[in-house]
Amino acid sequence: MSLVGLIAAGGSGERLGASGPKAFVVLAGRPMLDWSLDVLREVCDRVVVAVPAGYEEDGDRVVGGRSRSASVRNALAAAPEATVALVHDAARPLLDAEIARRCIASLEGFDGAIAAARVTDTVKEASPDGSVIGSLDRESLWAVQTPQVFRADLLRRALAAEEEVLAGATDDASLVERTGGRVRLVEAPASNMKVTTQLDLRIAQEILTERC
Ligand code: C5P
Repeated sequence: MSLVGLIAAGGSGERLGASGPKAFVVLAGRPMLDWSLDVLREVCDRVVVAVPAGYEEDGDRVVGGRSRSASVRNALAAAPEATVALVHDAARPLLDAEIARRCIASLEGFDGAIAAARVTDTVKEASPDGSVIGSLDRESLWAVQTPQVFRADLLRRALAAEEEVLAGATDDASLVERTGGRVRLVEAPASNMKVTTQLDLRIAQEILTERC
């Protein structure tokens, strides 16, 4: 088995409002990317990082694509030896090795094993004008995270979809599901949060500073 980590770090991070790409924003003294890169280097045979153009000079890096999934596809293309691929977003710097290892171990008998946390808010479906269509059953709802671990051949097939399909996908598991793959959830803590806003950045900074 060759386990390759693929980090999606190719986004611009506009919603964060930083001057540069989100993955390179300094968090507790180092670029956000480096926190999860260290963890994945511990658990994977190799780690390929998809970065924005101009950031590819050092390390095992490739230029990302127009969408997140296109960035993952570019990273996977650089690792033809991969039999298992672990995909992770650089925007989740609080990843720990235990979650990654549990996802890898849970792949047995499945095509994908993905980290997810139980939803704690009540979730409603609504029209664009805000009128409520209905309430969803919270018991069966999960908020999906990364890492997401896949049999690499299936992920390659899933990522061979048209650009518009890739652009519409918010995670890799949905692409693997539409290719017919069987995916299972691996319960992970909500603390494996995604940094999207300035508030998230402050929370992540606090936790990482405590860890150091
Ligand atoms: O924007 P968002 O936080 O949803 O992005 C999730 C992850 O996907 C981030 O780590 C970001 O760097 C990455 N990404 C990428 N290539 C893109 C867009 C986003 O690697 N074209």
